[in-house]
Amino acid sequence: MPRIAVISDIHANLHALYAVMADFQGEQCDAVVCLGDVVGYNAYPQECVNEIRALGCPVVKGNHDEEVVNLEHTRMNPIARQAMEWTRSCLDEESLNWLRRLPLQRIERSKFTMVHSCLDQPQAWNYILNANDATGNFQRQFLPLCFHGHTHQPRVFVWDGHRASELQEYWQQLVMEGETLVPLQPGVKYFINVGSVGQPRDGDSRACYAIYDSDAATVRLRRVAYDVAGAQQAVLAVGLPEYLAERLGTGH
Ligand code: ZN
Repeated sequence: MPRIAVISDIHANLHALYAVMADFQGEQCDAVVCLGDVVGYNAYPQECVNEIRALGCPVVKGNHDEEVVNLEHTRMNPIARQAMEWTRSCLDEESLNWLRRLPLQRIERSKFTMVHSCLDQPQAWNYILNANDATGNFQRQFLPLCFHGHTHQPRVFVWDGHRASELQEYWQQLVMEGETLVPLQPGVKYFINVGSVGQPRDGDSRACYAIYDSDAATVRLRRVAYDVAGAQQAVLAVGLPEYLAERLGTGH
């Protein structure tokens, strides 16, 4: 089995995407999967769609991927909506159709499930912020491993057969050392948030993603430094809200 890079929430940040692609190529990953939110917030929506499509990898739909093709029904706040209208104006018809057709969830290689938010009501786009939130997901998770994104915060939730809990020590190590190794124990279900490539929100501005190695039964969460200033300048240059540039610098 190959090493699989698991990326999510690219959000049109081409600087971050290129840095993560270089990192997983350096780590000898031979496959990639993407958990959605390819577009929204940052300056390169069409370019990021092109790059993800060129990878030829499995992709599931994120809420921004849905909203950009469905703007008239948007529930977004004004800043997100302004960014989304600009995003839509950048995307060609073929890209919009590709985003429209993305599935909400997918089982990959009979090994793991991919979803943007969670497996119970994935179209409701609920945020899984703690172990209590994760409980409903585990009721719908039939494989030992499921990857998700959406909150832009890397987290490891586990189900021991009775209850859900969060393993916070991995996040602390990830911030300090730039990588954390999660060994997958038999008999335990894992629901792992791989963080965000293009707009981290856990106070660490570096891009985040995961590498799943099924032979070793491990998931590595990794942080990747990238040209944040370049991404911020691009956001401002196309006239997107200043706040969207600022938050790339703080990682919030
Ligand atoms: Zn997102």
